[in-house]
Amino acid sequence: MKLSRTFATLALLSAAGMAQAAGNCTVSIKGDDAMKFDLKEVTVSASCPTITLELTHSGKLPVAAMGHNVVVSKTSDLAGVARDGMKAGAAGAYVQANDARVIAHTSLIGGGQKTKITFPGKKLSAGGDYSFFCSFPGHSTLMKGKLVVTK
Ligand code: ZN
Repeated sequence: MKLSRTFATLALLSAAGMAQAAGNCTVSIKGDDAMKFDLKEVTVSASCPTITLELTHSGKLPVAAMGHNVVVSKTSDLAGVARDGMKAGAAGAYVQANDARVIAHTSLIGGGQKTKITFPGKKLSAGGDYSFFCSFPGHSTLMKGKLVVTK
């Protein structure tokens, strides 16, 4: 009994190690002055204790002109979240406060800046239909991609 429990623990540890090794717990996305993300699709694992989402603004334009963030939501919620984010305005960094549809979002940054957030993998379901996008007004039509969630 004691032995099998040890094996189970080892198996769990090794599974967590593999998820880290596969790079599915940390995602790095770049946004530029051409209103584009460098990735159209990113993959994370729902089994990650913590998912780290890094955003780098590789451009030069200030946040007021070309601000970028990364918002994660279900794909079906994207349009509504973007619309309500616009209503939140610059003062709200284009994300409605306490929006339950927002699974995670970074702060809004300008050229040359970096930001990151962490959130638990369990906020996502493997195989679900999720997207990431920038909620700065007008950006989500171009600045969006698919968030693939594996187990
Ligand atoms: Zn943007």
